Amino acid sequence: MSLNENKNHNVPESHPRYSSLKYRHKIIEGMKNLVVAEAGLIAHGRGECFDYIIGEKTTKTAKNAIKAALAVLLTAERPVISVNGNVAALVPNELVVLSKILNIPLEINLFYAKKGRIEAITEVLKNAGATNIKGTNEDAMTELSGLESNRRKVNFIAKADVVMVPLEDGDRTEALKKLNKIVIAIDLNPISRTALWADITIVDNIIRVIPEMIETANKFKKLSTNELNQIINNFDNKLNIQKTLDLIIEHITKQKEEAFKILEG
Ligand code: ATP
Ligand code: MG
Repeated sequence: MSLNENKNHNVPESHPRYSSLKYRHKIIEGMKNLVVAEAGLIAHGRGECFDYIIGEKTTKTAKNAIKAALAVLLTAERPVISVNGNVAALVPNELVVLSKILNIPLEINLFYAKKGRIEAITEVLKNAGATNIKGTNEDAMTELSGLESNRRKVNFIAKADVVMVPLEDGDRTEALKKLNKIVIAIDLNPISRTALWADITIVDNIIRVIPEMIETANKFKKLSTNELNQIINNFDNKLNIQKTLDLIIEHITKQKEEAFKILEG
């Protein structure tokens, strides 16, 4: 049996976990096309677990962080969105729309360097309509100090003032902060090192965040710099993470009650 015969992508839409299964298949396809690293599958699973405990929806606190993130991106001088394999596999079209609305480049930045991966991700982004892609030429890269992983190699990020990092590794978030970058993280785990190091932490699934960001960006583009600055000043990341954790506790408490109803029959 060939590997491809084994794929069952025909998940019925009525399946209770349809959305989750659909995105799993995107990740699996991405791995076959070199876009996603093998470890990316495991990272996705870790994300799914956290998605489960936030209730698989965009919470109030995530919406607040998204608004602050857009205000920062719209007032930044040299913002950039970092792209890894999972992000390119899950939301390429949406990411390109967002980068165009905000007029911000996408920079490919990978934890796992494997021959052909940068090219594969570039192709996915180009097919989605991207015209401003950085990080495609290894010779033009500089290295972030204090970082050993392949993620140290950067292009536009080296001189950026604001870096949005979806599904980032903690080490690089720390390195970016040490270089005084403003970091916006999209991470389902509110207590990962990335989430705790970032200036703005959006605790939500990338598949919901980017569409929500597109909608908010269209509204915020009409705001003045003063209005955007006010949104930034009113946002408190530490408090927002605390409230996110409270929401998780609330959700799990409710789930516990529901589970006991079933267990007790
Ligand atoms: P850190 O290095 O920041 O401490 P970690 O080592 O626990 O985090 P990594 O594997 O480095 O985790 O990064 C992957 C992160 O991406 C995880 O926190 C995971 O929850 C998150 N993640 C995975 N899939 C998604 C997704 N679809 N949307 C948002 N976040 C996701
Ligand atoms: Mg990590």
